[in-house]
Amino acid sequence: MSETRVRQVNENQCQMCMPLGGVVAFKGIEGAMVLVHGSQGCSTYMRLANVEHYNEPIDVASSALNEKQTIYGGEKNLKKALDNVIRVYEPKVLGIVTSCLAETMGEDLTRMIESYTRERSTEGIDIIPVATPSYAGSHTEGFWAATRDLIAYFARPTEPHQRINVIIPHISPADIREIKRIFDLMGLEYMLIPDYSMTLDRPFGGRYQKIPPGGTSTADIAAMPGARATVQFGLTCPDDLSPGLYLQKQFGVPLITLPLPIGLQNTDRLMETLQRLSGRPLPETLALERGWLLDGMADSHKYNAEGRPVIYGEPELVNACVSLCLENGAIPAVIASGTRNSRLEEVLTPQLADADEAPVLLEEADIAAISEAACTTKANIAIGHSGGRSLTERQGIPIVRVGFPIHDRVGGQRLLSAGYAGTLAFLDRFTNTLLEAKYSSYRQQRKDEMITRGGI
Ligand code: SF4
Repeated sequence: MSETRVRQVNENQCQMCMPLGGVVAFKGIEGAMVLVHGSQGCSTYMRLANVEHYNEPIDVASSALNEKQTIYGGEKNLKKALDNVIRVYEPKVLGIVTSCLAETMGEDLTRMIESYTRERSTEGIDIIPVATPSYAGSHTEGFWAATRDLIAYFARPTEPHQRINVIIPHISPADIREIKRIFDLMGLEYMLIPDYSMTLDRPFGGRYQKIPPGGTSTADIAAMPGARATVQFGLTCPDDLSPGLYLQKQFGVPLITLPLPIGLQNTDRLMETLQRLSGRPLPETLALERGWLLDGMADSHKYNAEGRPVIYGEPELVNACVSLCLENGAIPAVIASGTRNSRLEEVLTPQLADADEAPVLLEEADIAAISEAACTTKANIAIGHSGGRSLTERQGIPIVRVGFPIHDRVGGQRLLSAGYAGTLAFLDRFTNTLLEAKYSSYRQQRKDEMITRGGI
């Protein structure tokens, strides 16, 4: 890679805040409700960001800390909030994620929860605190931290069984459903965490449900230590937050770390792993989908080679998108992530070793830095979330939307990019975006060329 730049985040952030990722992870647990120990504004922001992306009613409670609690402590508020949430939602699992304020105040959540459960009748309710100070990480780290803490809370030594643990990073509900379909087609029994494929993307039911059905059951999480193996889609997941590594270290569950199955090579890696685990060949359905993907790659490669993409967003998704672009001849111009604890460079280096031109890598980047790099490298297409829309508005670089948040288009939750079928859908979106940009500026470019040559 030509260079790695790190600068302070200061203009149009590329990532969202740490507890927000924790909220999403808790929404993937059956019967769960989540509470932010912080100000009203924090939970409102997290609710709004999630509602705009998932287009579902999403409840996030708050302990509503204000100036007074900042001085005297937030225990009273937290207990009152817990009373209200338990009365109104009747959750089986209650996640508490901390905000910057609560962490700066040094709130001892574990002690407060112990005190609360001694004072009140909380039988049948599991209250799980997760430390998510936003100054220590982005929503990516918050998602991993909550997933790891959920497993640490419920997992107990158990009899060995044949099921597989599947741990996902923050992806769309459509991608979760695709990963589940692939495991089903391979005939494997599994427990996927966190499964928000139904809770955050619900079929129309006509009635608002305070806690929607779906999600990973606590019984499944408790059984994870007895699994044959853990498949974790998390090459960039930091060790200290890794749920799969936790299961390996605490209970000896073999860990298989894979990239997100986006792109031909990454999906092939998943299929090889699943064939090994199941002892079965690739089912005909998946073999056909692989063939259609190869056909699509052959059809579109002559257009894709003109792409100079800027790829930005969460590290795991960025890594997978880089792989997809490289195998389709679109050499990335800029690769960027807003997060800090990432292994992105380490993971990207071997992938990019043979690239004709080294891309600019930006870590802990804001959109201003990404725009600047896009301009200097003459990028002509972007892959990422709605936060980068100024790339289009100011520089005319079209964006293939993927990741989180997508709030200026509908259907972010339904974007399918995983597996052979998802990769083909993603590739078509990418190629068509390039073609649209090309044809919409074609006449003007020809005119400009003729003027330059003195033809007009
Ligand atoms: S960054 Fe901190 S203060 Fe801002 S919404 Fe997130 S937790 Fe609240």
